[in-house]
Amino acid sequence: MTRYSAWNVIKNGLTGQKGWDRAWRDPEPKESYDVIIVGAGGHGLATAYYLAKEHGIRNVAILEKGYLGGGNVGRNTTIVRSNYMLPGNTEFYEFSVKLWEQLSHELNYNVMFSQRGQIVLFHSPAARDAAAKRANTMRMNGIDAEMLSRDQVRERVPHLDFSDRARFPIQGAILQKRAGTARHDAVAWGYARAADSLGVDIIQNCEVTGVLREGGRVTGVETTRGVIKANKVGLAVAGNTSRLTAMAGLGRMPIETHKLQAFVSEPLKPLLDYVVAYALPGGHFYISQSDKGGMVFGGDLDMYNSYAQRGNLPIYEDVAGCAVALMPCLKRVRLLRQWAGVMDMSMDGTPIISKTPVDGLYLNAGWCYGGFKATPASGWCFAATIARDAPHELNALFTLDRFERGLQIDEKGVGPTPKLH
Ligand SMILES: Cc1cc2nc3c(=O)[nH]c(=O)nc-3n(C[C@H](O)[C@H](O)[C@H](O)COP(=O)(O)OP(=O)(O)OC[C@H]3O[C@@H](n4cnc5c(N)ncnc54)[C@H](O)[C@@H]3O)c2cc1C
Repeated sequence: MTRYSAWNVIKNGLTGQKGWDRAWRDPEPKESYDVIIVGAGGHGLATAYYLAKEHGIRNVAILEKGYLGGGNVGRNTTIVRSNYMLPGNTEFYEFSVKLWEQLSHELNYNVMFSQRGQIVLFHSPAARDAAAKRANTMRMNGIDAEMLSRDQVRERVPHLDFSDRARFPIQGAILQKRAGTARHDAVAWGYARAADSLGVDIIQNCEVTGVLREGGRVTGVETTRGVIKANKVGLAVAGNTSRLTAMAGLGRMPIETHKLQAFVSEPLKPLLDYVVAYALPGGHFYISQSDKGGMVFGGDLDMYNSYAQRGNLPIYEDVAGCAVALMPCLKRVRLLRQWAGVMDMSMDGTPIISKTPVDGLYLNAGWCYGGFKATPASGWCFAATIARDAPHELNALFTLDRFERGLQIDEKGVGPTPKLH
């Protein structure tokens, strides 16, 4: 595999760009593997990479029904942050941010991680108290957080609506400076290239249609390209989790599939240096500006269950209303594109990285709105769980059976209502 380096860019520039290898191979599936990962999204690719790199398990296949990176990893608004409060979440998401900070070097691929900072607004004295509690908890856990006054927010983001007529008057915000955005496709491609170079087979256009079991143990999978045997199978299929777990006979899961839309505007000159978000009973919105100038934004789920990767019109209206309420200057900006992904919403809003009741079958799911930022830590922990057949300390609380044992990790405090998490 040719390394990406300044020297190789110059050398290939002078020699007709003939010295580059393909970023990853296109292998035929083998009859059997030590580990099969289902789903070549961010989590599946990262898991395979860390299995090979950290645990020396290289006889690994990733099976993807479409093309790698065609699911949520390539559809999200790319916000990376670690502003969590509850035990389990705080250390996991902070570990993820630390992996992000090294990821481009680790993968020898520029994932364009931009720590531009995230500003989460609040709009009432009660919300200020809640924000202060969150910021203090973060700091006590060694995670950076600052409280900003209304004037400090205005200095940083002058285009927000600070007028007397503002629909949601801004009273202040929490700033996490180390939060930011990354290039979503590059994360998928970087992990794919690095995993492939360690010998992992990435098999695209290979849909898993059945999970094979003998007694209480998994033995492989049925696919559109035939049966493939494996000692261990890890599921990392995001919004398709309930389909795959049904194939494995796991019964009803504490997961619902919902769709989430994102939007990007025509490119603008630099307007917004931060990621900005707000969440209120009357509106939920997050926005950043991409390196190409497009305003990238989104809001709530579509609020009905579906596996279809497309959204409905009322959410356009809702999100556009939230955008203009926050930044009135956006009202004449034209939308360039819109798309949707299918979210694996869990009952407590917290992920599952866990063994299952079937020996050799492992589950990575329940990422709700926020799985992109978790990609490195999720892959790291899922790989450890599969390799050792026991959870890593960072995902010890993310078990599947926590719902039976009443040990939910409900960051939002909205109870078992997946669409509200
Ligand atoms: C619009 C939108 C905005 C978002 N914004 C953010 C954000 O700002 N920050 C953040 O942290 N998170 C965000 N998310 C969430 C994040 O994108 C997801 O939680 C995360 O990407 C899910 O993990 P993944 O990358 O592995 O999923 P995916 O990329 O969806 O990977 C799952 C893969 O499994 C494959 N698959 C499914 N069934 C089968 C089968 N039977 N056989 C083989 N393959 C199969 C799919 O084709 C897919 O490629 C957003 C999501 C969306 C949709």
